[in-house]
Amino acid sequence: MKTFFDLQKEVVERGLCHRCGGCVSLCTAVNYGALELGPDGHPRYKDVDRCIECGLCHAACPENPELEAETRQRLAWSAPIGRILGIRVARALDPQVRQQATDGGVVTALLLHLLDTGHIDGAIVARQTGPFHREPTLAVRREEILEGAGFHFDTTHSMVGLGREYAHRHGLDLVSPKILKGLHRVALVGTPCQIHAFRRLETLGVMPSESVALCLGLFCSGNFAFGEEERARLAEAGGFSWADVVKINVKDTFQVHLRSGDVIELDLHILDTMKHPACHYCQDYAAEVADISFGGIGAPEGWTTVVSRTPKGRAAFLDTLGHTVEEYDRTGQPDLADRVLEQLMRASAAKRRHAQAFREQMTRGASTRR
Ligand SMILES: Cc1cc2nc3c(=O)[nH]c(=O)nc-3n(C[C@H](O)[C@H](O)[C@H](O)COP(=O)(O)OP(=O)(O)OC[C@H]3O[C@@H](n4cnc5c(N)ncnc54)[C@H](O)[C@@H]3O)c2cc1C
Repeated sequence: MKTFFDLQKEVVERGLCHRCGGCVSLCTAVNYGALELGPDGHPRYKDVDRCIECGLCHAACPENPELEAETRQRLAWSAPIGRILGIRVARALDPQVRQQATDGGVVTALLLHLLDTGHIDGAIVARQTGPFHREPTLAVRREEILEGAGFHFDTTHSMVGLGREYAHRHGLDLVSPKILKGLHRVALVGTPCQIHAFRRLETLGVMPSESVALCLGLFCSGNFAFGEEERARLAEAGGFSWADVVKINVKDTFQVHLRSGDVIELDLHILDTMKHPACHYCQDYAAEVADISFGGIGAPEGWTTVVSRTPKGRAAFLDTLGHTVEEYDRTGQPDLADRVLEQLMRASAAKRRHAQAFREQMTRGASTRR
């Protein structure tokens, strides 16, 4: 089994590390916490004596292609954006869920239904801990799942802060046996990178991956750090005050919803400098290896696009219809799913192109340094 020393030699020292924190996150989840992110965002040993040489850090690295191929095969991934069993547009039946939610509240409504019907006994969601602060949390009660509804970003842009917290923010340390405390049917909600890292654990058959019953992926253009300076810049560009903002959202534009009901739309490029460094290398927009993927793109305002990817995901979603979720009336729009798919493919291709350009730059830089 390869160790962190190999990862250091093959990836970090060659300048190929994306600073995604996946290695540290898995080490924290499964090992004794031998790794941490340093001030520059690169992984390093926190305490070499705690390392059990399990090789998970190496296996988690997106620069390691072996597990990726196996993972994709296991999940019947197919080009260009993963397996698709069905595309629907839906929203939560409960107006309170819709009001708190990012789009149509389907993720929250699905989790509530799964909990009510005993299909899950908890869910890993993100909890808002301040206006621009989030924390991954294990929700085991309805109220906790409801509290998690909505769109949550990070605040810190500093690598020192990320070094301390990003592995934790990744959320995978919550899949630790210590935290799951014997729960065996937990749903994991996460961005594509989080779902990918978890699927690699599953491919390796590493405890406690069997505790996760369902992977709910979110479409993702990137995760952003909303520090003070960045917020001021956005407010100036959009001509609004943060005191008037009731909701922000990322679809094909960056949307700022104001108390007055107005929605200000800014080009997504304005967020580029606020992206987490690792997001520039991520090729997955549509959460391609989740059981179900969700996003706002393609759906009318207040509705969620739902892509079922595995039989388990499709069955779970269909079971919610008429209970906590309603489907968009497609009368007169028989091609709705096709149009949604087209938008999704376009957004996915754009993200992939961006990532490939960054990767080429990184590889060129690495070979110049050698
Ligand atoms: C960083 C980020 C970027 C996104 N980019 C896009 C995009 O470019 N295009 C697009 O169409 N959709 C994007 N989405 C997805 C979209 O914002 C909604 O999450 C999705 O449409 C589901 O909406 P909903 O109303 O059904 O979910 P809700 O019912 O509001 O539930 C959302 C769930 O996601 C969890 N969550 C929120 N933030 C995070 C986070 N940072 N990490 C892990 N879990 C989290 C919440 O705890 C909650 O359980 C993005 C989401 C995130 C978090």
